[in-house]
Amino acid sequence: MEQRIYLDHAATTYTKPEVLEEMLPYFTKAYGNPSSVHSFGREARRALDKARKRTAEALKADPVEIYFTSGGSEADNWAIKGVALANKNKGDHIITTSIEHPAVLDTCRYLEKEGFKVTYLPVDQYGMVSVKDVEKAITDKTILISVMMANNEIGTIQPIKEIGQIAKEHKVYFHTDAVQAIGSIPIDVNDLNVDLLSLSAHKFYGPNGVGALYIRKGVKIGPYIHGGAQERNKRAGTENLAGIIGLGKAIELAVENMEKNNKKLIGMRDRLIKEIMSKVEYTRLNGHPEKRLPGNVNLSFEFIEGEALLLSLDLKGIAGSSGSACTSGSLDPSHVLLAIGLSHEIAHGSLRLTLGDDNTDQEIDYVIEVLPEIVNRLREMSPLFAQDKGGLEYV
Ligand SMILES: *Cc1c(COP(=O)(O)O)cnc(C)c1O
Repeated sequence: MEQRIYLDHAATTYTKPEVLEEMLPYFTKAYGNPSSVHSFGREARRALDKARKRTAEALKADPVEIYFTSGGSEADNWAIKGVALANKNKGDHIITTSIEHPAVLDTCRYLEKEGFKVTYLPVDQYGMVSVKDVEKAITDKTILISVMMANNEIGTIQPIKEIGQIAKEHKVYFHTDAVQAIGSIPIDVNDLNVDLLSLSAHKFYGPNGVGALYIRKGVKIGPYIHGGAQERNKRAGTENLAGIIGLGKAIELAVENMEKNNKKLIGMRDRLIKEIMSKVEYTRLNGHPEKRLPGNVNLSFEFIEGEALLLSLDLKGIAGSSGSACTSGSLDPSHVLLAIGLSHEIAHGSLRLTLGDDNTDQEIDYVIEVLPEIVNRLREMSPLFAQDKGGLEYV
C-alpha cells in the first residue's frame, strides 16, 4: 500500500505533537496528585488550574464552570441524568431530538424506564431541528432540553442560539452536545444561552479518554461519581492529569486555528462533494448543503452496500466510515439517516468522509480518482443496478 489517507476525523483525531509534548512531563516528572499539599501536588494543581482556565476561555465561560470527565459520553450522561434527578420535584419531562449521539439517546431511554417522559423531536430532510417544534414541545413539566450543536454523521449545524433563547424564556435548562463543534464553530456559552455543554478532547486533536462538562453557575445538578472532593465535589476520582493538560492545550490550539483550518477544510470538502457528485450518478448529499461542519462529507450511493464500499476504499488506503462509528458493526441503518427520511436501502449505501487538518489536496485528488471507480465496479456487480437504474426517488 503506497499511501494511507485518514478521512474519519469525526470518529477520532490524532493527537497533535504540541499537545503530546505538554502532556509528557505529567507522566514522568510532575506526577503529583493535585490534592496533595506537598510541592509535587501543588505543581500538579497549578497545571490542572491552567487547563481549566484554557478550557473556560475557549467557551467564554468561568473556570469554576468547567468539570473534567472521562470524555463526551460521560459528559452527556452526567448532564442529562444529573439534571433529571436533581430536578424531578419540578418536573419529569425532557426534550431532545431523534438525531442525537447514542450517549444522549440511550441516556434518555434509560430515564424513560425510570419514569421520566422524553420527547424525541423529528428533523427535516437536512437534519435540521425546528425551533418552533422545540417551543411547542415545552410543558410545565419540562426540566431539560438537549440538542446537539452539530451532528457527527451528517454534519448539520443546529440553531443553538435560538433554542437557547427559547429555553431561557421558559426557564428550562438547555444542554448541548458540542463534541463535534469544538474547533469548527465559535462558542460563547453566554451568547448561546447554553446551561450545560459537553466536549471531548479526542475529537479536536487531543488525547482519548478525557472530556469536560460545562455547567453554568447555579444549575441544579448532583455529583456524577461519588467519592473524593475532586472537581468541586461533583466528580470524584484522582484526575487524569496528563489527559486534562492535553485537553487544555488542544482546545486552545483548536480555537486559535479555527478560522484557518475551517477555510482549508471547506475548500477540500466542497471540492470532494462536487467532483464525486458530478462523476457518479445516483448519488445524494446527506445533511445541510450550507449549515454543515467544515470537514463533513456524507453521501449515499444507490445500489451499493456501504460496508462493501468501505472495504474497497480501505484496500486503496482510504479510511472512511459508513453511518456512525459507534453503530458500525450493527446491521441496522443509521438512526440519523432514517430520521432525515432515507429508505433503509439508500441509508445502507452511505459513506461518511470526515476531513481533518492533516489532509492534503493531493489526498483529495486521489479519493476523487479512486472512489468513482470503486462505486462503478460495485454497481456492475449489483443485480439491483442492472434491473432498476435510478428508479428510486430523490428527496
Ligand atoms: C464522539 C462523540 C461523543 C462521545 O464522545 P467520547 O469522548 O468518545 O465518549 C458524543 N457525542 C458526539 C456528537 C460525538 O461525536
